[in-house]
Amino acid sequence: MTWRDKLRPANRTTGVEYAIRDIVETSKEALKKGFDLIYLNIGDPVKYGFKTPMSLIEAAYEAMLKNHNSYSDSIGIKEAIDAISNYAQRRGIKPIDIFITQGASEAIEFAIAALLDPGEKILLPCPCYPLYQAIVSKLGILPSYYYLDEEKNWSPDIDSLVSSIDDKTKALVIINPNNPTGAVYSRETLLEIVEIAKKYNLVIFSDEIYDQFLLDDGLEHLSIASLTDEVPVVTFNGLSKCYFAPGWRVGWGIVSGPEVLLEDYIEAIHKLARARLCAPHPLQYAIPVALNNSNFYIKEVMPILRRRRDLIVRGLNSIPTMSCVKPLGAFYAFPKFDIPGLSDLDFVKGLIIEEGVVVVHGSGFGQKPGTKHFRIIFLPEEDLLEKALHKIERFVKKVLS
Ligand code: PLP
Repeated sequence: MTWRDKLRPANRTTGVEYAIRDIVETSKEALKKGFDLIYLNIGDPVKYGFKTPMSLIEAAYEAMLKNHNSYSDSIGIKEAIDAISNYAQRRGIKPIDIFITQGASEAIEFAIAALLDPGEKILLPCPCYPLYQAIVSKLGILPSYYYLDEEKNWSPDIDSLVSSIDDKTKALVIINPNNPTGAVYSRETLLEIVEIAKKYNLVIFSDEIYDQFLLDDGLEHLSIASLTDEVPVVTFNGLSKCYFAPGWRVGWGIVSGPEVLLEDYIEAIHKLARARLCAPHPLQYAIPVALNNSNFYIKEVMPILRRRRDLIVRGLNSIPTMSCVKPLGAFYAFPKFDIPGLSDLDFVKGLIIEEGVVVVHGSGFGQKPGTKHFRIIFLPEEDLLEKALHKIERFVKKVLS
């Protein structure tokens, strides 16, 4: 075998795509043209001036000074696990196991890898945060999709969920609040999902990384795990979004449900955790500070974000051929557009190259055949959002003329 043969990348990497960062390649071309790019593609609040709370930084710093710089226990330090357990219980979840990971991303990967063999199936939402497709593709697990219904504020289309289940389906994923649509699911919707999971014996993976990003007064976020003791649920969360520390890579998974059935599965998750040693040790000391106190900062941020959400939704809805369902949570909108002859990817590439506005094409998340979308974040300040809206409108009018 030649070096070229030996260096052929493994097949398992072929299907791994992450549109949110992949689109950056196109932006490099625009940078060469000398554009000042407006990045509305990556959901990182810290990049837009929001700050990690000082109390968390102090807790991490103090832990480093106290020399908590060794590896930690593989599933995490006791203080943090206790804080997560209390947080979960306050939200009505009865945790059976908690494991702390390198971001929620790793918890998601462990939970999926410990449950499904290659060839078995997992139900993913369409559109979906692309990490899930990347993980299942790498592991040889088969994704099947259920649609989120744009006509019903992007809530799960229950008929499409049921019709996608077969004998090989072991688990279903919900993302609530949702990335990329910003939907927040009602109790009725969550109860319907629980009933389906019960009927077909499906494990629920519930990604709640945006649980405190609720953009309207009086809106409540419910953890699906709080609605059932009978269905195994793994709930994912972490410090990345609601505590404004995505670069710390601290997340976790909470396993709940019928304890007698879960022992082997939990041990399988722990094995994966042991094999990679641990999550960042000193940073885990910030978890109790984050979860044992009221998250004052996010309460300050919400009205600011609400204004930005309103501006972006109003602006997008006034652009020809475009419509945008109002996001209720997180910081993403997923507008639809209809420009004949222009795919969503061409639209996004054109917008980057000609106007310097970086958004992500809808097909990077998945979308109903025949529809075209893009994902835009509304974290930046209003004047930058207005500038971006103006550029998007100018681009649309140009391609329509
Ligand atoms: N889940 C969802 C729905 C996300 O949007 C993200 C990041 O954008 C993650 C998980 C990743 O979280 P973490 O940074 O904790 O790995």
